[in-house]
Amino acid sequence: MLTNDQLDKWDRESFFHPSTHLAQHARGESPTRIITGGNGVFIEDRDGNKLLDAFAGLYCVNVGYGRTEIAEAIAEQAKELAYYHAYVGHGTEASITLAHMVLERAPAHMSKVYFGLSGSDANETNVKLIWYYNNILGRPEKKKIISRWRGYHGSGLMTGSLTGLELFHKKFDLPLAQVIHTEAPYYFRRPKAEMSEAEFTAHCVAELEALIAREGADTIAAFIGEPILGTGGIVPPPAGYWPAIQAVLDKHDILLVADEVVTGFGRLGTMFGSDHYGMKPDLITIAKGLTSAYAPLSGSIVGEKMWKVLEQGTDENGPIGHGWTYSAHPIGAAAGVANLRLIDKLGLVANAGSVGKYLNDAMRDAIGDHAHVGDVRGEGMLCAIEFVKDRNARTFFDPADKIGAKLAGAMVERGVIARAMPQGDILGFAPPLCLTEAEADQIVATTAEAVKSVL
Ligand code: PLP
Repeated sequence: MLTNDQLDKWDRESFFHPSTHLAQHARGESPTRIITGGNGVFIEDRDGNKLLDAFAGLYCVNVGYGRTEIAEAIAEQAKELAYYHAYVGHGTEASITLAHMVLERAPAHMSKVYFGLSGSDANETNVKLIWYYNNILGRPEKKKIISRWRGYHGSGLMTGSLTGLELFHKKFDLPLAQVIHTEAPYYFRRPKAEMSEAEFTAHCVAELEALIAREGADTIAAFIGEPILGTGGIVPPPAGYWPAIQAVLDKHDILLVADEVVTGFGRLGTMFGSDHYGMKPDLITIAKGLTSAYAPLSGSIVGEKMWKVLEQGTDENGPIGHGWTYSAHPIGAAAGVANLRLIDKLGLVANAGSVGKYLNDAMRDAIGDHAHVGDVRGEGMLCAIEFVKDRNARTFFDPADKIGAKLAGAMVERGVIARAMPQGDILGFAPPLCLTEAEADQIVATTAEAVKSVL
């Protein structure tokens, strides 16, 4: 086994960490925590620390760590057939079974599943399918995609453009011209304090209508949104938001993509967030919870309306020119099948709803009245705390204050991993869906201690 010093040296010499301050890391200012094992909601690092992972990795290890059922399914598949592609005329039992299982769980009007590897590539696929669709329908001008500020949809060229967070655009020459952004449904940061939730929803709808009028509905192909904003701050939409947005999109013949990379397969206490909020998407993006991250796999679930046009397109133009070598990789698919079975067997969707509510309520009770807590919010097994300078004056911390990072640091010292969300003053929680009430109590008690020590 390598020594810690050797690993640390190789890490700094050789390894390019994603989403990391590279210079600080190279200077040794942010040493790497090397994770060696996991069981249930706990992970262990190389120094022997046992940590409650209250963010399930990157909100993806939904069934928790150490599930032998999934590990064995992966091993069986690798022994039997590690790989075969899914291009014309080929498939594997695992990938076909998984497509069937996904559709059994998806909203009724969905028709087919295209499998990729990451949430980012699934959203790239979605945009290509949307453009193809409008080309087949003879509407080559109808191509722009509307996304929301604070949305997160990946970090590729197109998906980094769809993402509405400055960090992912800055110095990368993004967003691309085909992407336009509209207001985030972020009630806590509403433009006027006296606005009711219903008024704020009406404001978001008016902003969308104005954007469509400015650009021209005949240039806009689709609207993409997470049912509940995730990386942008874990922000549930204001009351009535999705039905009102859906009505505008329907009126202008604009497709809806529900990005369910975080919410798919139970995180909100329903199988999909679209069910939870009454969305009627034409495409649904899935990843993380599809395999609980035991293997990389994502998917684009295509609705009936689009599917018919895609079929027509191939009659007119030949096979669809889109595919990855690893589309529907059998090892990922085997992990997905075992994972979805486990979610059913353990009743994890219902657990996410009930223990998620317990966690949110307990968090509110414990620190909701603190002078620097502006908002405690969440849905299902998602929870966020937004810290403010002054809750009555509604004044905010400067991102340079790094309040979230300080709090996350204080929590890790006390054995719990929470995530400092990119905005800087939000602490996020997205534990595995198998969390128990006792483990939720540990998260809340640790958060209260950390808040007391930092603020
Ligand atoms: N969409 C959403 C809503 C996400 O939260 C993420 C990742 O966090 C992505 C897409 C991108 O997924 P990936 O990181 O697998 O490319």
